[in-house]
Amino acid sequence: MKNLKLLKDFIEAKDFEKYVLFNIRQLADYTTIKTGGSAVCFIEPPSLDILKDIFEFICKNNIEFNIIGNGSNILISDKGFDGAVISIKNIPKKLYSEGNYLFVSGNIEVPYLIKMCQEYQLSGLEFLNGIPGMMGGMVEMNAGAFDCSIGDKIKEIVIINGKGKLEKISSSDIKFDYRKISLKKKNYIIVEAIFEMKKESQKQIKDLSIKYLSQRNSRFLLDYCTFGSVFKNSDDYYAGELLDKCGLKGYRIGNAQIFDKHANFIINLGNSTSDNIYQLIKTMKKEVFDKFNIMLEPEVRFWGDFSNA
Ligand SMILES: Cc1cc2nc3c(=O)[nH]c(=O)nc-3n(C[C@H](O)[C@H](O)[C@H](O)COP(=O)(O)OP(=O)(O)OC[C@H]3O[C@@H](n4cnc5c(N)ncnc54)[C@H](O)[C@@H]3O)c2cc1C
Repeated sequence: MKNLKLLKDFIEAKDFEKYVLFNIRQLADYTTIKTGGSAVCFIEPPSLDILKDIFEFICKNNIEFNIIGNGSNILISDKGFDGAVISIKNIPKKLYSEGNYLFVSGNIEVPYLIKMCQEYQLSGLEFLNGIPGMMGGMVEMNAGAFDCSIGDKIKEIVIINGKGKLEKISSSDIKFDYRKISLKKKNYIIVEAIFEMKKESQKQIKDLSIKYLSQRNSRFLLDYCTFGSVFKNSDDYYAGELLDKCGLKGYRIGNAQIFDKHANFIINLGNSTSDNIYQLIKTMKKEVFDKFNIMLEPEVRFWGDFSNA
């Protein structure tokens, strides 16, 4: 990792050792698929101020980094990630409303969000029920379901920029695409999202949240180690249908298996490696390309080196 010594010196000088671990965290423990090697450096600051301080240093010194939320949409190499992994899990959580606006910090998870939407009687985010992400990760992925995406409801977000400063970005300056967003800057951490909601009765919000949860085709997946959909759908096809037509349901490499109830999901049957999962993804891509001449685009994000997989 480039500038590792510099980072170590900075952490020591600032007395931040309690929040930074070098070479010891198995990133598998931080993902829902439960695979992946260690991080050269794992940073979990307790406050926004410390997060800003460390992030500014990382960006200034061109240190490679990745932000981790709930790890429900990433596949990390068995060799780990040769950079800094930053988690915002331990910064103080906040969720409050002002009129029809809902302010949600980046480390809030969906069950609490849904509960508070009911309490504040604010409707609009029920479709997220059942997605195992954190707010920051969900905004970054423009998470969605049932023809709704989180970007449709965002008024603005707050990021920490590469200079370590908080910056508000209005939704009109964010390009929301299918399962990704683009900002005008490269280095950022999403620390808050502000939503424009609609007043609704508690009962209505509760009923809708329950309806979405029971309808989601991945709800049975929550009992498995997985990262949800492997590939994106498009206007022209459902990736799961194409994969099913290739006869891939249940196909297995090592302990990684294509889910037998839905061909666009991979499950870790226990002690799978990321290499096995990556090989499975390559096979899925190839089979669909050979049969339909369609190149599927992964929804899952890859961290680290997969060159030998
Ligand atoms: C059972 C199951 C069901 C799922 N169902 C759905 C679904 O219906 N719809 C859907 O869209 N997705 C679904 N997913 C995928 C996943 O939950 C979403 O993509 C979610 O938005 C990822 O959030 P996360 O916090 O886990 O992000 P992570 O997986 O930790 O990270 C995802 C990406 O976001 C970046 N990131 C994370 N936090 C931040 C931050 N604070 N600032 C900047 N970047 C950040 C990461 O660097 C990474 O590139 C499902 C996953 C599972 C396991």
